[in-house]
Amino acid sequence: VRPPGHHASADGSMGFCLFNNIAVAARHAQAVHKVGRIVVVDWDVHHGNGTQSIFYDDPGVLTISLHQEGIFPQAGQGIHGAVSEQGEGKGRGSVINVPLPPGCSTAAYRAAFERVVLPALSTFKPDMIFVACGLDAGNHDALGRMMLGPEDFRWMTAAVMGVADDLCKGRLVLSHEGGYHAPSAPFLALPIFEQLSGQSSGIANPIALRMAGLPPSKLLAHEDAAIEAARRAATMLSGVR
Ligand code: ZN
Repeated sequence: VRPPGHHASADGSMGFCLFNNIAVAARHAQAVHKVGRIVVVDWDVHHGNGTQSIFYDDPGVLTISLHQEGIFPQAGQGIHGAVSEQGEGKGRGSVINVPLPPGCSTAAYRAAFERVVLPALSTFKPDMIFVACGLDAGNHDALGRMMLGPEDFRWMTAAVMGVADDLCKGRLVLSHEGGYHAPSAPFLALPIFEQLSGQSSGIANPIALRMAGLPPSKLLAHEDAAIEAARRAATMLSGVR
């Protein structure tokens, strides 16, 4: 879906986003299809500030955003994805932010999923999962400075599919958000489609082929510290939820 949605709030457009597509879909699912609890996992490289703001006081919708710290939206632009933004009122505990330093690759994203995202999904027990599926944490992106490749997007897709199968009858929607390197974006999206459909396209993925020769990704100390800060906050708040 174009344009993307996750920066748009209930009453304003922002950052290429006019309407918050996932928020509209989530509310539709609740109102029309009687879906109860919803989790939005946002792996776009930017903070999902619009989605967070819309559900900030709603205990029925947990928003989890993994993003590069200190890029758009910045601190002066309102909420920007700090660990300390945790929801308010009845919604306290229904916001999890995982701000990551630039340069994160496979190891950091897997650690963030295994320590923060997947445990939070297990405790929240959603009836449906939405993914704000930006491709701008890819390693060629013009706006992000992360280092993910095609196989990382396949792995994250498989991870949320597994949780959706275990917890909510496979109810899972991925919605496209950002992605600013036109030549590589299709090769980051391809493994997502392959994973979701259970089919191999047979297309040689030039980025995956080139990355296959790189040394294994390592979790660096400052990445580990950032993920631990988010994990501690999320664990503390799981009692509130
Ligand atoms: Zn983005």
